[in-house]
Amino acid sequence: MEPRIIYSIYSLRDFIGKSYAELHTHHKALWKRIKEATGYTWDNQHYSIADISGHAQIDILFYERNISMYTSHGGKSLGEVKDIFSSDIFTEEAWNKFDTFIKKISEGKSYCCRCHKWVDTITSYSYAGAACAECCDDYKKEKGVSIEVAYAPDTSGT
Ligand SMILES: [Zn+2]
Repeated sequence: MEPRIIYSIYSLRDFIGKSYAELHTHHKALWKRIKEATGYTWDNQHYSIADISGHAQIDILFYERNISMYTSHGGKSLGEVKDIFSSDIFTEEAWNKFDTFIKKISEGKSYCCRCHKWVDTITSYSYAGAACAECCDDYKKEKGVSIEVAYAPDTSGT
């Protein structure tokens, strides 16, 4: 069993105005305390954002200059916050992006990491990359290859 911190989408508003470096330093220190308190040995951070029902929908990783986002169910990449807003500060717009992502995922929509549109179905083409049918067709034409479905390694230990 792994420890996990789950933020509500509304508590994420506390990030607004803070730099990615500040958020990284804070969450790195918090994760160290969590590891010590629980006896958990892995360095991998486990932070998530929940919908209004309390269900984790987005997993996030804090880096010195960015925050990476993945779906909590399936581990598909949703991109990185700073790449969308080109700011060193977590802004109101960044929070709005998380709010929109949470709502879309809760509605059962999937995010194409190539064209950045919300669609009903996506296909995996790399460890965390998944794209809509149109982008998969474009990818096949560009590369002249078929898209192999890639699954994350089983780390459950069972
Ligand atoms: Zn697409």
